[in-house]
Amino acid sequence: MARRQAVQLGKRRLELSNLDKVLFPDDGIVKAELIDYYHRLAPIILRHIKGRPLSLVRFPDGIYGETFFQKNRPDWAPDWVESCQISDLKYMIAAEDAALVFLANLACIELHPFQSRLPHVEAPDYMIFDLDPPEGFDFSRTRDLARGLREHLQNHGYHPFIKTTGGKGLHVLCPLLPRHSYDDVFDAAKHLADLFLKKEKQATLQIKKEKRNGRVLIDVYRNRLGQTIIGPYSVRGRTGAPVSAPLLWEDLDSLTSPVEFNLRNLPERVSTKGDPWEAFAAFAVDLHTTARPGKGAGGELPVYRAKRNLEKSGEPAPDVPVSTSGLEFVLHRHHASRLHYDLRLEMDGALRSWALPRGLPPRPSVKRLAVQTEEHPLKYLEFQGTIPAGHYGAGQMWIFARGKFEILKQKKDGFYLRLSSPALSAEYRMIELNNKEWLIDRLDAPARDYLLNPPSPMLADATDVVPVGERFLYELKWDGIRAIFTLEEGQIRIFSRNGHEITESFPELLRPDDLRATTAVLDGEIVVLDDLGRPVFEKVIKRMRKSSAAKEKAVCYFFDLLYLDGRSVINDPLELRREWLADLLRDRQTMRLSEVLDDGQALFAAVKSSGLEGIVAKDRSSRYTPGERSASWLKVKVSRDCTLAVLGYTPGEGEREETFASLVVGEWTEGKYRYRGRVGSGFTQRSLTDIRSRLDTLTAKKAWFSHPDLKKVTWLKEGLFADIHYSSLTTDGLLRAPVFHRLRPDFSREECRLEREE
Ligand code: MN
Repeated sequence: MARRQAVQLGKRRLELSNLDKVLFPDDGIVKAELIDYYHRLAPIILRHIKGRPLSLVRFPDGIYGETFFQKNRPDWAPDWVESCQISDLKYMIAAEDAALVFLANLACIELHPFQSRLPHVEAPDYMIFDLDPPEGFDFSRTRDLARGLREHLQNHGYHPFIKTTGGKGLHVLCPLLPRHSYDDVFDAAKHLADLFLKKEKQATLQIKKEKRNGRVLIDVYRNRLGQTIIGPYSVRGRTGAPVSAPLLWEDLDSLTSPVEFNLRNLPERVSTKGDPWEAFAAFAVDLHTTARPGKGAGGELPVYRAKRNLEKSGEPAPDVPVSTSGLEFVLHRHHASRLHYDLRLEMDGALRSWALPRGLPPRPSVKRLAVQTEEHPLKYLEFQGTIPAGHYGAGQMWIFARGKFEILKQKKDGFYLRLSSPALSAEYRMIELNNKEWLIDRLDAPARDYLLNPPSPMLADATDVVPVGERFLYELKWDGIRAIFTLEEGQIRIFSRNGHEITESFPELLRPDDLRATTAVLDGEIVVLDDLGRPVFEKVIKRMRKSSAAKEKAVCYFFDLLYLDGRSVINDPLELRREWLADLLRDRQTMRLSEVLDDGQALFAAVKSSGLEGIVAKDRSSRYTPGERSASWLKVKVSRDCTLAVLGYTPGEGEREETFASLVVGEWTEGKYRYRGRVGSGFTQRSLTDIRSRLDTLTAKKAWFSHPDLKKVTWLKEGLFADIHYSSLTTDGLLRAPVFHRLRPDFSREECRLEREE
């Protein structure tokens, strides 16, 4: 590896040095790996630490060498590394991925951010309880203590979050609205801890170790200006390179060690499970010790009122009092005569509103128009439903995201803002062009850009019996090619389940005008139908090979939506995703909706009698888990199927005298073929003749295996593969009631298996 290397990150050019410097000798982790970690996780780390002054711990000679705190910005740091002056120190701030890489290159293993962030560095935006157990304290007791503290804090109106510290302990953080001083936050934290200690005898507020008597320190003294804690996702300078890992509370149950997550295993977890703290700021509240702000009545809003007949439209009247934090926002998806989104920000007791005809921009450097509309009453934060025909804005209105926002910077021609909500957490810039016309621009990169980097599809578990219950909805299991569609700027791209682009194989499916969206990622199955409307697998497979001769037109049945107009929707419940999916499929000739039914057993019976493959039962409230097999989707097939190698045949008699009686099939497993049975039914006259014509050239002398079944077998060389249906396996592993389905010229021995992947 090169000792020095220049890299370009966006508009920044950095010189990296000593890349092969060993930082963690026991783990063989070199500096290049630390840099790579901070670069990969930058979008998520920045979400949490951007704008926060940083205390940094540097380990220039590795974790066993000399270490020191770096608080002051070095003179030689590049100009673009931001900083913030607090008394006599000029703290560095990481505002972009290049800054994290710059710091990692200085062997800053540990990032310790302030509890407050710009533009209000005097006002913390969370309260921190640092649970510090004594040496040898059982971790399960620390977990119990954290759960107890959570309940205590919830009872006072907070919404606590948990993370590991990367050491022995745990951090419990309560998001706050950033309008309370450090002194007030400290007093509130101390007060809460005092109350908690009355019922919890294993904890103490004693800073002095000798006075703790084996109890866990609840360190509330970090709630002071200049005090820091290890940042979310920061690596620790300790053996094993543990990371301070944000968790969901339910993750705590299965966490056996406080250092389970480290530099090597955390990125994978984050890329499949996402950031459990994504919506952190959306749960911010005021201190329980301060009076809540008064109710906003929003004034008269004459323009709003003049446009509407509020008795009939169902929308809220301007004078309804609403209790809010003062920093609320809502984003509506509004399917009026034209689809658009409405961004509404709470300002001066009303909702300042902009209509976004093309949704939110998905990433930096994409700008979208935002047309300022009349102010709406605060009560509109909660409004969704249908505005009846004939009224202003008639059509369906959904709450697409709702949470808190913050103005980060006021400019002459607009402002910077951060939206924090369970559905969407991102930073934007609003630029005023002229009379009512604005542009909105995204400032931070999304943690994962589904449009550029489409995820693998979610997979279903197999089950034998149709699951029954209110929570399920049922749809056909389409027998075709699973496909992820992306739509951006009027361009559709199609990806197979393995992530291969197959756009060019299906020109007839590139119909962006059929979709009512600007950006979207959809999940569906491409099929070619027979005259009765049944999917024919062989025909769609043929289309994968040659795109030109498209005599048989393909259609796509869509059943899920992963991304829509500026945000990922994988965490929304299936039923809501399907509502938006149905709303965006405009013309359904080619781009179709896979319909769902409530009665699974009736659907299964219908599928059985019409010769279709099976059904899928899906939990209505389930989230979409890319690339994972999930029990919230259950496939039930009419019969099981597999693809096996044809390795011999037995001679036919009577009607089959000219062809054969059965095919001997085997599965490739552990480096050899295993006997799986003889298949004698399911053939048509045509398939009998076709297969017979191939057998002579494949004849072999050698037997693949021996079995009492196999007396008069003519053995074959490897070369034929077939899909076979069967009901179950016998105790000695043979197929019960096997039925030939079709040859699979596209298969090889490694792909032989009893459950065909789909
Ligand atoms: Mn609207």
